Amino acid sequence: MDYYELLGVSRTASADEIKSSYRKLALKYHPDRNKEEGAQEKFAQISEAYAVLSDAEKRAHYDRFGSAPGAGGMPGGDPFGGMGGMGGAGFDPMDIFEQLFGGAVGGRGRRGPARGDDLETEARVSLLQARAGEEIEVSIDRLTTCEHCHGTKSEPGGKPPKTCPTCSGTGAVRAQARTIFGVVETQQPCPTCRGEGQIIEDPCTVCKGRGRTLKNETVKVKLPRGIDEGYRIRVAGYGNEGPGGNGDLYVHIDMEPHPELRREAEHLIYTARIGFATAALGGAVTVPTLDGPQTVEVKPGTQHGELHRLRGQGMPRLQGAGTGDLIVEYDVTIPKPGQLNDEAREALRAYARAVGDEVPSEKHEGFFDKVGKIFRGE
Ligand SMILES: [Zn+2]
Ligand SMILES: [Zn+2]
Repeated sequence: MDYYELLGVSRTASADEIKSSYRKLALKYHPDRNKEEGAQEKFAQISEAYAVLSDAEKRAHYDRFGSAPGAGGMPGGDPFGGMGGMGGAGFDPMDIFEQLFGGAVGGRGRRGPARGDDLETEARVSLLQARAGEEIEVSIDRLTTCEHCHGTKSEPGGKPPKTCPTCSGTGAVRAQARTIFGVVETQQPCPTCRGEGQIIEDPCTVCKGRGRTLKNETVKVKLPRGIDEGYRIRVAGYGNEGPGGNGDLYVHIDMEPHPELRREAEHLIYTARIGFATAALGGAVTVPTLDGPQTVEVKPGTQHGELHRLRGQGMPRLQGAGTGDLIVEYDVTIPKPGQLNDEAREALRAYARAVGDEVPSEKHEGFFDKVGKIFRGE
């Protein structure tokens, strides 16, 4: 079997082409995904081919001599002794696979005992809490070591666990794959004891032999100043407990909406509704700042949409120093029908005359209303 043929690439294939082809084949034949007979063997073969062809030096050697460096005497030689060029007896197709895929497929914690799972939760945070960088508390249910059996899984005082007869306590069984190099051994978790190495004869009555129980805990989380919606905070070690260490807790931040202020990153925005008389003549508005109501002067001639900044009264910048502003945005409101009484209407007519605006006559007012009535035959 030729390495290039195995990977389905030409002898002049680039490193990227080799990698891409191996990826496709490895996913197809990965023993976790492909239970067909011969798949595991094929997986081992393409992994070996890739191990050689992805390494420029080994590939050059292979091109010249038709074999991997140090692989003399194969096939048929000592299945474990003759693999010096490929990392010695420790060669494992899974290693190559995991180097390339980062353990994304079939990642079953083959390296030592499994770490506990990460946990995720959500926390609702107010603007004040985010501004101060307060310490908040979140409640989570996490798997922790059973307090009754202390994680041994066996009922205290009951029958002790017995060594697994299938794997003799090692927790692993060997599977053999025939390859061009002979037979490659791969290790798999023992199916009898699920990799534990022992069989629990008298399971703990509290955790039912699982070794861990679900426990509700309150975790304190320090908010970074200026934290905002969509961020998550990692609290190391507050995930589930596992034999290989604890997972982490991820707290997703959900900002509590403020009744009057809108947030845009480090800035807060307040829409102040003012009448056009105040806009024209000037006046004052009350702004609900995070430190309480504050009176802000409206300058004469304020336009609709004009902004007024209260510097440094926004939120702390999450990245970098400083604080944002509280921006007052003026919304000049025009009275709607029915909101003006006779006196106000007369005053507006007087205003219009005074500034030389086209004076609306009494007849003019409601003109379309009258036309409408005629059409409707009223
Ligand atoms: Zn227990
Ligand atoms: Zn076993």
